[in-house]
Amino acid sequence: MSRKKIIAGNWKMNKTPSEAVELVKTLAPLVQNPDVDVVYCVPAIDICPVAEAIKGSNVKLGAENMYCEDKGAYTGEISAAMLKDAGVEYVILGHSERRGYFGETSEDINKKMKQAIKYGITPIMCCGESLEQREQGITIDWVRQQIKVGYQGISAEDAAKTVIAYEPIWAIGTGKTATSDQAQEVCKAVRDCIAEIYDDATAAAIRVQYGGSVNGGNAAELFGMPDIDGGLVGGASLKEDFGKIVNY
Ligand code: PEP
Repeated sequence: MSRKKIIAGNWKMNKTPSEAVELVKTLAPLVQNPDVDVVYCVPAIDICPVAEAIKGSNVKLGAENMYCEDKGAYTGEISAAMLKDAGVEYVILGHSERRGYFGETSEDINKKMKQAIKYGITPIMCCGESLEQREQGITIDWVRQQIKVGYQGISAEDAAKTVIAYEPIWAIGTGKTATSDQAQEVCKAVRDCIAEIYDDATAAAIRVQYGGSVNGGNAAELFGMPDIDGGLVGGASLKEDFGKIVNY
C-alpha cells in the first residue's frame, strides 16, 4: 500500500495571532507539494486566524492539544467540538512536552484519542523514549507500551486513519537528529505493534512520522526510509526551511 506522506509543523508556544498570519503568508508559496499532506499545528489562539489565512491553499489545520470531555467546567481547556467548528482536522496528542511538563499519561492520551476520533479529528499521537531509556536498551518496549495504552478500545477502522509520530525526546529541539536507521528501526517497531494489536492491513494503512530536529538537510534521507511517512517538525516549521522539508 502506498501511503501519502504527512508533514506537520508543531509551532509549540510560538507566534502571536498577527505573527501567525504573517508566517502563513511567507510559507504559502514554499509549501506546495501535492504529494504531501501539509499541516500546521498551531497554538489555540492562532487557530481562527490561521484557518482564515490558509483558506484556498493546500495547508490543513491542526491543534497542539485538546481536552477529553465534551464540554463543561474545565477552565482553560479546549474541546474537540470547538476545534472541529474552527476547521481543525488534526490534533497532536501526547507530545513529550505535554507528558513531561504537564504530567499527561498514556491513559489520558487514550481518552483524548477517542474524543478526537468521535469528533472526526485525526490524532497525531506522539511516542518516544528519553536518552536514558535509549541507553538502557528499552526504547522499543517503551514505545510499544505507549502505543498499546494509547490505542486501547480504538477500532481497527479508526486506528488506520490516525497518525503516530515517533519522536525520541533526546532529538527534540536539540539539533541531534536520530540517524535514518535509528528512526526507521523504531518506526518499523511502531508499525509492527499496530499489526499485533490489529492486523496487517491496519499497520499498512497507518501513517508513522519521525520527529526530532528534522530540517531541510536531513528530511530526504529520513522520509526515504520505508516505514517513515513524513515528519512532525518543531523549530524548522517556523522558518522558510519548512518549505525545503515539504519539498524534500
Ligand atoms: C517537536 O516538537 O515535535 C519537534 C520535533 O521539535 P524539533 O523539530 O524542534 O526537534
